[in-house]
Amino acid sequence: MKILSIIGARPQFIKASVVSKAFAQSESIDELVLHTGQHFDENMSDVFFNQLGIPRPDFQLDIHGGSHGEMTGRMLIEIERIIHEHRPDRVLVYGDTNSTLAGALAAVKLHVPVAHVEAGLRSFNMRMPEEVNRILTDQVSDFLFCPTAAAVHNLESEGFSSKPVKVLNVGDVMQDSALLFSEFAQAPEGVQKKRDFVLATLHRAENTDDRDRLSSIVDALNKVHRTVAEVILPLHPRTRAALAREGLSLDVCVTDPVGYFEMLWLLKHSGLVLTDSGGVQKEAFFFGKPCVTMRDETEWVELVEAGVNTLVGADSDAITTHVKTNFLRSIKDEDSLYGGGQASRNIVRHLLGSR
Ligand code: UDP
Repeated sequence: MKILSIIGARPQFIKASVVSKAFAQSESIDELVLHTGQHFDENMSDVFFNQLGIPRPDFQLDIHGGSHGEMTGRMLIEIERIIHEHRPDRVLVYGDTNSTLAGALAAVKLHVPVAHVEAGLRSFNMRMPEEVNRILTDQVSDFLFCPTAAAVHNLESEGFSSKPVKVLNVGDVMQDSALLFSEFAQAPEGVQKKRDFVLATLHRAENTDDRDRLSSIVDALNKVHRTVAEVILPLHPRTRAALAREGLSLDVCVTDPVGYFEMLWLLKHSGLVLTDSGGVQKEAFFFGKPCVTMRDETEWVELVEAGVNTLVGADSDAITTHVKTNFLRSIKDEDSLYGGGQASRNIVRHLLGSR
């Protein structure tokens, strides 16, 4: 079976690292990897290929920047050409980026079955570009590989049970990566001796592209750093640009984006995770850390229901208060919410079972 995997953004490299390994272990699967170029530099792309042993892409596009429409449109043209030429049996896409949507759309129009890893997640906020991408991708997918029971439930509510497609709770591939690579955790340069800090990440457009929200979050980060614990923030390029544009300054320990092994070390040694990332909310949980999420809603509702993740939006006082209350609290995965590290294996099994 020839599978064309489409990746392009940081979280997709991390997800693909385990799925591509599972493909490589199967004699019946021949994987081709296409990198759209959505994330492209050393910090946001190369480091993950080097650390995680992801196969070098067979096709490397160089598409980044521009508006959503422009980026997605350019990807669509190139991906269509490659599918036409190489005729894969399945196209596999991850998550909710423009690369996901472009890959799914190109494939379905050429009648190539689409497999969507991380299907069924919903924030119910259509102003998020990610929500639009994931809903449209689910609509044209044949294999909807859901990471959680809540994701399956979302698809059932949208009527997927009566469609001739496969909706499967396979577990979360990010738990596979966290388990597989945990032993390689390594301290980022300059922070070896630290522990019990607040690990922060910030990059959602709803926060970076809204001056009021961004300024309130910056205020909270500075306050937490002054009054609760040191804040370490590997800064996303989008956020760096937004801070410069708005003339806002952070008074915390800011680093460039770090590699995955460094991120695993930071997760393990932190006393709390403060984030607006999707993936990092779960990684906090995998490493037994409380999480405070700077968003108004989350796709990972089971963490909020389990009382290990608190949604605080962008309100400065709420962020500071909840960080204070939860700092160093211990968290346990009582119910194996994310499948326990079997997701990639399940994906391979279901894809091969479908021949
Ligand atoms: N990550 C990383 N280095 C960083 C920040 C994040 O390796 O400096 C990893 C993080 O551990 C997680 C993934 O990138 O595995 C999450 O990506 P991101 O937050 O960019 O995207 P989201 O999950 O919100 O789509």
